[in-house]
Amino acid sequence: MNTYSCETHINHALDVFVAEQGKFPIMEAVAEENKLSTKCSYCEDAALYVVRDE
Ligand SMILES: [Zn+2]
Repeated sequence: MNTYSCETHINHALDVFVAEQGKFPIMEAVAEENKLSTKCSYCEDAALYVVRDE
């Protein structure tokens, strides 16, 4: 499960992950070459972070 998030929604994305998965996720920066093509899961902004399962 990968969730992409902008700066605004990263806390929300982490909360949702913990609530759904019952564990803390890995949080990484979106690779530079993917930033323009990747949108936040919660709004239309470009994603800066990816929240994922290990
Ligand atoms: Zn967002």
